Amino acid sequence: MSGSNLPTGLSAFPLLGKVGIGAGLVEAGAAGPHPSPPPAEEGGMQSQPLVRAEALAKTFDVSPPLLNRVLEGKPRQMLHAVDDATFTIAKGETLALVGESGCGKSTAARLLVGLYEPTRGSFYFDGQDAHAAFKAGGAGARKLRERIQMIFQDPYASLNPRWKVGDIIAEPMREHGTVQGKAAQEQRVGELLQSVGLSPADMVKYPHQFSGGQRQRISIARALATQPEFLVCDEPTSALDVSVQAQVLNIMKNLQRERGLTYLFISHNLAVVRHVSDQVGVMYLGRIVELAPKHMLFSAPRHPYTRMLLDAIPKMHDTGHARTPVQGEVPNPLNPPPGCTFHPRCPHANERCKTERPAMLGIQGIQVACHAVEEGRI
Ligand code: SF4
Repeated sequence: MSGSNLPTGLSAFPLLGKVGIGAGLVEAGAAGPHPSPPPAEEGGMQSQPLVRAEALAKTFDVSPPLLNRVLEGKPRQMLHAVDDATFTIAKGETLALVGESGCGKSTAARLLVGLYEPTRGSFYFDGQDAHAAFKAGGAGARKLRERIQMIFQDPYASLNPRWKVGDIIAEPMREHGTVQGKAAQEQRVGELLQSVGLSPADMVKYPHQFSGGQRQRISIARALATQPEFLVCDEPTSALDVSVQAQVLNIMKNLQRERGLTYLFISHNLAVVRHVSDQVGVMYLGRIVELAPKHMLFSAPRHPYTRMLLDAIPKMHDTGHARTPVQGEVPNPLNPPPGCTFHPRCPHANERCKTERPAMLGIQGIQVACHAVEEGRI
């Protein structure tokens, strides 16, 4: 935490603070390798969140082979794909993680479904240490995989082209043993197809007989086959034509309403995020730099990067007004700038920004990591 005085209304974000939308990030290293377990459910309106990530970090070793390093005198190279991400998602709500390509949002998604093991930090699902359960394997991991499912970006790559749709959707049921018997499985597949706007008769067809939007609906039906509570959606509409994106998003929203689903929604598109989210985390070079309820983020963005992303969105009622494209390039994540990693692109950067990494601060219901906000300059 910096030594500067905080203006009125600005408080240093407490480590492992309150659950709910107000929870945010902690400064690097603050949590250490063994974060404390989540607190017991507190009284009041807000129940314990379904999903809780605490100082979650993933570092990849992308060094050249040892021989090359020795011969060429090159150091090890570490890629900090996700850096101290802390957030919560209440049951039945959607957190969207947004940012440019390479900001770490897809790595964050894969951490939450157990495809990657975190380098540091923890992820609790329904009060249970999920990564410990994934690591232990067995029935605990199996049960967790039933409750947490993922929808991938590319519906062309995520469906086996040699399998009929009915087999694709029934496979998780067979794998987890959630529905016994062929007749019962077929009935369930038919219901799932109907729930995503397709026909039970489609179960005898192959994926290539469907359009991109229909294939993504099949992916959603497959993800729902084990009756999960938490869906991690990695850019689920970005491979689709604009004309069908809204249909898929509306299906996802309806399913969330009907089944009380909780979503982590990954996207680079703020317009899509606005449509689906309850809270939004803006990521830059592996770190969440602003975390806020949707309406606050869109009406009063605080971080300069969030403002830059919002300025680039075409506005329906602002015709004739030139929009500002996103300025500059994302730096090489293998060699990120010191201090605030956004400083080479930031119009508000000062000398402090070039050397001191901004801590995450709580301010009026949002979390933001920016010296200019802390100093009251913006
Ligand atoms: Fe810009 Fe400095 Fe804030 Fe970083 S900390 S976003 S460089 S003003």
